[in-house]
Amino acid sequence: MSDMFYPWLQAYRQNLSSCVKQQRIPQALLINGIAGLGKHELAKQFAQYLICLDKQETTYCGKCASCKLFSANTHPDFLLLQPEEPGKAIVVAAIRGLISKLNLKPQYSGYRVVIIRPADKMNINAANAFLKCLEEPPERTVFLLLSEQMQALPATIRSRCQKMLIKPPEINSAVHWLQDQGIDAEQTLLLHLAQGAPLRALAYAQENVLAQRNSCFTEWQKVSQEKACPVQIAEKWQKIPDNQLVHWLLSWTEDLIKCYFQIDKSLLLNVDLEKHLRVLAMRLDLNRLFGFYDLLLKDTYRIKTQLNKQLLFEEMLITWSQVTVNK
Ligand SMILES: [Zn+2]
Repeated sequence: MSDMFYPWLQAYRQNLSSCVKQQRIPQALLINGIAGLGKHELAKQFAQYLICLDKQETTYCGKCASCKLFSANTHPDFLLLQPEEPGKAIVVAAIRGLISKLNLKPQYSGYRVVIIRPADKMNINAANAFLKCLEEPPERTVFLLLSEQMQALPATIRSRCQKMLIKPPEINSAVHWLQDQGIDAEQTLLLHLAQGAPLRALAYAQENVLAQRNSCFTEWQKVSQEKACPVQIAEKWQKIPDNQLVHWLLSWTEDLIKCYFQIDKSLLLNVDLEKHLRVLAMRLDLNRLFGFYDLLLKDTYRIKTQLNKQLLFEEMLITWSQVTVNK
């Protein structure tokens, strides 16, 4: 596979190429990890390695007919299945379409590879239809299932896949990598906001997400001081990607609990907000704060299914406005 690659994925990549060398190629591999670690890139490189007709020691050749078609995104033995729109489900019709293609023989002499991303977006009918592919595997075909939350996949599918769990790199090496990409400030903070995922941290830097997060924090503060209306803030917050927002809220709340118990600064997640957090912590009711934290944890799941985000954020912010005392 290519040498130009994310350093934190090297070990996973080597692991995959040695599977090929030892002819222990998984029929189905479930690659799980949070967003921003490069799972798709890893899967594509592995796919090209499998498809290459002139494999080198650890990398694809990049020159054979297969590699050329792959690079041009026109290889008939490489299939990528994803929702029609991001966030939507992969439906059974898409799986049936895939199965009809898999009924034909691979067109080249190498492997045929199917990437499904995110695999946990297959709805229940799609997952049941796909299960047949795993039970009666088509010849020379490898399935690569990408997921950020593999628990969301049916156990029947999970149990038939070999698993590769991708972890975020160690913080210092991630900071260095961000510096190499030209990010010259706030690397640690960006990584924290991205839960340690370097590609996500890079995107945050490029999209100026820190400014957005800081303005949300100010609004959150104002709600607790009764200087902003929960209903209006709820309306504004609907425009922010909800995973991101709930992650921020959880980390602020966790830090507030730490500040309440006067835990050392080095253990805070939002070091840059320390001063504000300590002021908030002086005025809060701990039981109510735990109640708010419970609600946030529930909301991480509810937000994926509840259509009315306005109501969800209103409930969340009204609960939050009652956490502080002695105003
Ligand atoms: Zn090749």
